[in-house]
Formats: sequence, C-alpha cells, structure tokens
Amino acid sequence: MRRTVSGFVAELAGGGVVRARKLLVATGLVDQLPDIPGMRERWGRDVLHCPYCHGWEVRGGAVGVVATGPMSVHQALLWTQWTPDLVFFRNGVEISDEQGQELAARGVRVVDGEVVAVVGEDKITGVRLADGTSIARETIVVAPSMVARVGFLAGLGLSPVEHPMGRHLAADAAGRTDVPGVWVAGNAADLAAHVVVAAAAGVTAAAGINAELVREDTVRAPFDARTEAEVTTRVLGDRRHGLAAQVSGE
Ligand SMILES: Cc1cc2nc3c(=O)[nH]c(=O)nc-3n(C[C@H](O)[C@H](O)[C@H](O)COP(=O)(O)OP(=O)(O)OC[C@H]3O[C@@H](n4cnc5c(N)ncnc54)[C@H](O)[C@@H]3O)c2cc1C
Repeated sequence: MRRTVSGFVAELAGGGVVRARKLLVATGLVDQLPDIPGMRERWGRDVLHCPYCHGWEVRGGAVGVVATGPMSVHQALLWTQWTPDLVFFRNGVEISDEQGQELAARGVRVVDGEVVAVVGEDKITGVRLADGTSIARETIVVAPSMVARVGFLAGLGLSPVEHPMGRHLAADAAGRTDVPGVWVAGNAADLAAHVVVAAAAGVTAAAGINAELVREDTVRAPFDARTEAEVTTRVLGDRRHGLAAQVSGE
C-alpha cells in the first residue's frame, strides 16, 4: 500500500493494482493462541473465547479457562453464567487475593500449575499439567492475544498499538485514523467487535469517507471551474488575436 498525490495505490498479490482517493481498512485480526499443543487445532470448535458467541452451545458442561493474562479472571467470571462446573487453570498467571475471592464467590475452582497440552482426539477430553496430572474438561476457554492484521499499512506510517486485548489500529469513533484519508472498521480497530458491531462500524466509516469526498469536491469545484474558464479565455483569446492579426495583415 502506498500513497500518491491523489490518494492510495494497493498492489494485489495477483499483480493487480487498485487506486482510490480514500482507504477503508477492514482486514480483521489474528488470534494468537498460547503455544500449547492441541489448542490451535481445536480453536473455534471446543477451544473457545467468547461467552456470547459460544456459551449456549456448551452450557452446563465441564469448562476450563486457561489463563493467559490479567483479563482471564474477567473472562472466567463471564463464563460462570453458562456453567457451574468451571475450572480456572492459573497457568503461571498471578491473580490477586481479591480476584481469588471473586472466583471463589462464583464457585470457580482454581488449579495451579502450567498447562502443557490440550488432549483428546475428536473432542477434547481434558488438559495435562506440567506435573503430569490430567484434568477432565469438555471445553477449553482461552483469551488469545488479538492482533490487527494491518502489516501492509506500515508504508503509510500506520502500525498497531498496544491494547489490553492485543494490538489494534487506533482510530476515532467514526473510524478515522491518524493518517489522513485512511479509515478503519471492524476488528482491525475494535478487537472486541462482534459481527454486527464490525458491520456497523463499516457503515459509519463509509458515511464519514463519503462526507469527506463531497467536502473535498465542493472545495475544489469553484477552483476547477475558474481554472477551466481561465484556460478557455486564454486559448480563445490567443486564437482571436491570431485571427485579428491575419485580418489586419500583421
Ligand atoms: C472462533 C470465533 C467465533 C466467533 N463467533 C462469533 C459469533 O457467534 N457472533 C459474532 O457476532 N461474532 C463472532 N466472532 C467474531 C467475528 O468473527 C468478528 O466480529 C468479525 O469477523 C469481525 O469482522 P471484520 O470484518 O472486522 O473481520 P473479518 O471477518 O476477520 O474479515 C476480514 C477480512 O479481511 C481479509 N483480509 C485480511 N488481510 C487481508 C489483506 N492483506 N488483503 C485482503 N484481504 C485481507 C480476510 O481474509 C477477511 O476476509 C467469532 C470470532 C471467532 C474467532
């Protein structure tokens, strides 16, 4: 992606080129999972993250939250709405006394020790800890680090910034980034956005882009018209001068 005098040029993998005056980035994010064998393979099936997306399907089951950072306690508390059988695998993440009390208050069992594998063939059967202990679970919940998929914007001076859930492209409420002409919608900016929120952000950004295009065209219109009139006058003026000279025999 690069900037030109009038906008942007996107070079496509197949060799094509797309030109535009404005850029709306909607390339989503990458879920970076902890490097635990068995986790990546089952992502989106029985390794999950979002209670709103998946809670109903696994309600009442044996769920284990594998902690990855400070947000994991919050995530576990949300999942207590879906099952009374919740285990919080600390997995090396420190939790405060207050957080421990919160988990206890919601009936969550806390297990120390590092999780070294998610086990099971067609379906998860549990996790294995570093000391060899296996704990039966049907569903694993984990908070991946969510990283906006925007590496191709580096040439425009835009790169993702730190966010409690990962790294995202900073933008204002309408999706306008710090780089003029570049807008962003969906997960690339809002790591927590669900489908309808991402889609709505696209509509909001599109309206903002359109308003900007109209404003630019409006500002430019009198200038374009004047320039055209000046050029016409000059060209016709020269011709008239030439004609007059011929008629008068100059
Ligand atoms: C396991 C899982 C389950 C989920 N379940 C739900 C659910 O039940 N309900 C819900 O509302 N949300 C759910 N979500 C969240 C949902 O996926 C997101 O909210 C939504 O996909 C965000 O839309 P987006 O357009 O921002 O990004 P995406 O949907 O990720 O779309 C980005 C698009 O950009 C393309 N792209 C990326 N890089 C480039 C590039 N360089 N050039 C060209 N194209 C590129 C990608 O291929 C992709 O098509 C779930 C997410 C996960 C991970």
